[in-house]
Amino acid sequence: MKQYTKQYIGGQWREGRGKEMSNFNPYTNELLYTYKGANQEDVDDAYKAAQAAQVEWAATTPAHKIQMLKKLIPAFESLREDMIACDTEEGGKSIHIGGVDLNYIIEAIEDAIRYPTMIQGTIMPSNIPGRECYGYKVPKGVIGVISPWNHLFVLAMRYTLPAIACGNAVVLKPSSETPGSAMILAEAFDKAGFPAGLFNVVAGAGSEIGDYFVTHPIPAMHSFTGSTETGRRISELAGRHFKDVALEMGGNNVMIVLDDADVSKAIKSVGFGKFLLNGQVCMAVNRFIVMDAVHDRFVEELTAMVKSLKCGNPSDPTVNIGPLINNTQVKSVEAFVEKTLQAGATVAVEGKTEGNVVHPWVLTNVSNKMPTACCEVFGPVCSVIKVSSEEEAIAVANDTEYGLSGCVWTEDIFRGIQVSKKVQTGNMHINSHPISAEYHVLFGGEKSSGRGRSGGQWYINSFTKEVLITVNL
Ligand code: NAD
Repeated sequence: MKQYTKQYIGGQWREGRGKEMSNFNPYTNELLYTYKGANQEDVDDAYKAAQAAQVEWAATTPAHKIQMLKKLIPAFESLREDMIACDTEEGGKSIHIGGVDLNYIIEAIEDAIRYPTMIQGTIMPSNIPGRECYGYKVPKGVIGVISPWNHLFVLAMRYTLPAIACGNAVVLKPSSETPGSAMILAEAFDKAGFPAGLFNVVAGAGSEIGDYFVTHPIPAMHSFTGSTETGRRISELAGRHFKDVALEMGGNNVMIVLDDADVSKAIKSVGFGKFLLNGQVCMAVNRFIVMDAVHDRFVEELTAMVKSLKCGNPSDPTVNIGPLINNTQVKSVEAFVEKTLQAGATVAVEGKTEGNVVHPWVLTNVSNKMPTACCEVFGPVCSVIKVSSEEEAIAVANDTEYGLSGCVWTEDIFRGIQVSKKVQTGNMHINSHPISAEYHVLFGGEKSSGRGRSGGQWYINSFTKEVLITVNL
């Protein structure tokens, strides 16, 4: 893959002035590139450039914004091979799904080009004779977008595109695990000819620029995607400085399999719904809550399906499960499994670790208090919890601090809707897996999984503010 050694600030590619950083291939452990991370002065420059660019951008017509956003499509298409190489070599994503990110980004652009013309205001009557009150929806200004390492292309663009479409400028801070992906996004904006400063990327050590990025006086809002722990810190810091936040955080998502479910179809959905990105997706199933009537068949079919998955080099197109992002993540997954086995769970499929590749585990006789069930594992581990009633399934599903996504399998759609309404989570899917986030559709988490809603009109609500102007006629 290419070397990504520069920051993108104010339309310029330049060296960071912070710590020397290194980036490794999570499968081979080979050094991919080193770069100078951004320091606080770089963050300052990026925010100032964004602030200057935003004023002119906000004043352009919707037609102009749409025209510019459309130019991103060929720009991204020309970067297709770089995106796939980066996803596989930097992110460890299986190469056979590498091209999918480009499709997701193009869908996001196609959705975002609707937003400039969707922004509407309000006219309100006044009790003051001769006065009219106009509510305008205007851009918030500069938005800080903070992204995690998993699925960076999509997760960064999911918020950057609507923010820009609504007339804002963006400074993106990617995870230091995947800075190359963020620089490819910058390349696309650069190639498309966006005004200098409208989109900036500062990649650096969280310890050096993290808090500064959040508390800086210029950004009006931060759109954060990442762990609940970091989201809590960002929320606290932003709150102290009266900045808006939109938070997409961790999950502990359920697949509830009721006694009338089509078990085989449910199992077919697990390949994607659990193992996409090697189990490192916020919406992936963490707990399988299965009613006793279908439990044994479910475990039998799950075991067979999981044993058929191929693990290894993500550059091999026949491989389903590649490496976790780093060895810290591997150790964390191993510790979850070990403690759950000590707590009395049994093994239906025994995983193993080779380098950073964790082969999948299926654990049964799991209780909701055991570590792989009560925590977000973020790896290829299936925990099956047996329950004896629908009520117990709902109670177990809700016994968590998280509320991001989930699904329920039943042949009775009405029953599925009633169960879904009782599960305390932002997104529930009936007869599908829980990984779903269409750009025009409502999305967001509950409890410790999220604040705010994204998708279609919810993006517009998020990335604009309403101001009142009165006129004495
Ligand atoms: P993380 O919380 O460790 O890091 C996320 C981002 O926050 C990174 O860019 C990191 O550098 C930055 N960061 C860390 N400290 C900061 C600070 N003080 N100020 C500003 N930025 C700071 O998360 P991760 O390990 O990169 O990603 C995995 C987590 O993300 C999982 O918990 C997963 O569930 C969650 N996630 C959620 C969604 C969602 O839509 N809800 C999507 C993807 C991932």
